[in-house]
Amino acid sequence: MKVVTRFAPSPTGHLHIGGGRTAIFCWLLARHFGGEFRLRIEDTDTERSKQEYTDSILASMKWLGLDWDGDLTYQSQRKDVYNKYVDKLLETGHAYYCDCSVEEVEAMREVARAKGEKPRYNGKCRERGLGYAEGRVVRLKVPAEGRVVFDDMVKGPIAVDVNELDDMVLRRADGMPTYNMAVVVDDYEMGVTHVVRGDDHVSNTPKQILIYQALGLAVPTFGHVPMILGPDKQKLSKRHGARAVVEYQQDGLLPEALVNYLVRLGWSHGDQEIFSLQELVKLFDGKNLNSSAAAFDPDKLQWLNGYY
Ligand code: GLU
Repeated sequence: MKVVTRFAPSPTGHLHIGGGRTAIFCWLLARHFGGEFRLRIEDTDTERSKQEYTDSILASMKWLGLDWDGDLTYQSQRKDVYNKYVDKLLETGHAYYCDCSVEEVEAMREVARAKGEKPRYNGKCRERGLGYAEGRVVRLKVPAEGRVVFDDMVKGPIAVDVNELDDMVLRRADGMPTYNMAVVVDDYEMGVTHVVRGDDHVSNTPKQILIYQALGLAVPTFGHVPMILGPDKQKLSKRHGARAVVEYQQDGLLPEALVNYLVRLGWSHGDQEIFSLQELVKLFDGKNLNSSAAAFDPDKLQWLNGYY
């Protein structure tokens, strides 16, 4: 099997070091197995997405030495493709139209909350057989019982009861597919075999698996890497001395040092500290990824930079 990985940044800011590290892991995994590394721009948030950020992310990727295969994909250009798959789910009875108002859905969630249950849509429109009408959303018919199970490359086996999951919206009232729908279609069409991303996305994975299953598609392997934290174990930010990749470049840091540093922040090979890129490609097989969050240490980065 050819290994295909992808990096899927949202162009709402410059490439930060957490995203950079994810991109490096995906790139290394593909290169180690002689596979493909694809790049997709997730620019469906039209208000926050900017071309200048896409340009900046691409420039940072090049500076880090991460080349990608095939054409760049922009989600904003693929609305019709996603909707073809939503239509297929409607045709096969795996999805349905829903005309509940935002207030009604919120009231359903409130009822669940009051019972001490997970807030969720109560499935009111499931069997109503509604057809298309402007303003109606499309929801996935989540199976009545069972568990979604996957073996995470980093976190190990994860199981989520379907009762924890909503009949999620696949297409919004304005005709736009939702994030989870778009990602499944893209990963499938790109032939992605390994989805490696930050663990802020781990709760999306069971939802995405349900969409794969409803479409009758093979589910890829998932790996969720923990966030990089500040030295005080809080969410990493500028006050910890963390900067965007482009700022390190402007400061004259060497890309080899940053790559080496970021890889070692989430992966280990014995107690070896210094690796060349070729060495990393040879050694990085996706195993030995740390499941606990690593703390950023600007001094160590500078030390490594001095070494190169
Ligand atoms: N666009 C998402 C982000 O930047 C990544 C989603 C994914 O990797 O599936 O966080």
